[in-house]
Amino acid sequence: MKVAFLGLGNMGLPMALNLIQAGHQVHGFDLVQSQLDVFKAAGGISVGSASEAAIDADVIISMLPASRHVEALYLGDSGILATANPKSLLVDCSTISPKVSQAVAATAKAKGFAMIDAPVSGGTAGAQAGTLTFMVGGDSVDVDQARPLLEKMGKNIFHAGPSGSGQTVKVCNNMLLGIQMLGTSEALRLGMANGMDPKVLSDMMSKSSGRNWVLELYNPCPGVMENVPSTKGYVSGFGVDLMLKDLSLATENAGDLDASVPLGELSRKLYEAHSKAGNGSLDFSSVFNLKVD
Ligand code: NAD
Repeated sequence: MKVAFLGLGNMGLPMALNLIQAGHQVHGFDLVQSQLDVFKAAGGISVGSASEAAIDADVIISMLPASRHVEALYLGDSGILATANPKSLLVDCSTISPKVSQAVAATAKAKGFAMIDAPVSGGTAGAQAGTLTFMVGGDSVDVDQARPLLEKMGKNIFHAGPSGSGQTVKVCNNMLLGIQMLGTSEALRLGMANGMDPKVLSDMMSKSSGRNWVLELYNPCPGVMENVPSTKGYVSGFGVDLMLKDLSLATENAGDLDASVPLGELSRKLYEAHSKAGNGSLDFSSVFNLKVD
């Protein structure tokens, strides 16, 4: 199967490498040359544009930062919908607005393409290990067509419902994750201010009712866990600005529907303050160091 992979960043690159390892012919494009170099060295076919990668692809996968990048990639004058073959199945794995996702998929459908939204959870470690969770929105027939490929990159493939519903699940999940990271950081800092060893505190809370994913798998306090961003100077991982984007998606979505998300809104403001203090490109667990007067 020929796959076009567009967006080879922290997530896209390891996902594409898993497809190469599974024996697929993967043509990739990214705006950053160093990412393309790593992709090529691992057996990918690096090309000079998204539309070149998409030529004759059975499946076109995108993994881009935000809604505006996805709109530009698919809807632009020389975008995928204008240049690719409608026989290609379109799979957008980026985390974007459910509304934008539905609009892009509807335009794609009007031009004869099938498109699904398939955002992921599991972080860069899950992308590398091929254990991501995919939350998929779209028609069953298209989801079933994509499933064997998604299974090369992930362990759990959930069909959430019609177009855009994968994004809805992802937005809810990440709002909860952002809140969990702030709450876990706050509890750890309070314990440490009392003289507690953060590792002992984490171990005990992990066996108590404060137990959660951040505490057990992505501890924000440096030195508590190996192989997590906090222990590596908060580099790479899932950026503060990406979490800020996801919380903005959640609060915008809530605003559209008149749903109440006060903790989501407070969290968005706290990540925004952390980003404005110059931490936007650090991993989101660096919010552990946020001090609020
Ligand atoms: P990233 O910024 O590391 O990678 C995005 C890549 O897209 C960059 O390399 C950029 O150069 C490239 N790009 C932008 N416009 C492009 C275009 N027109 N054509 C080709 N390439 C283009 O971001 P990431 O961490 O890989 O995240 C990607 C998406 O996955 C985001 O929507 C994010 O919210 C989501 N996500 C990230 C994580 C994580 O842990 N990093 C986890 C789950 C979901």
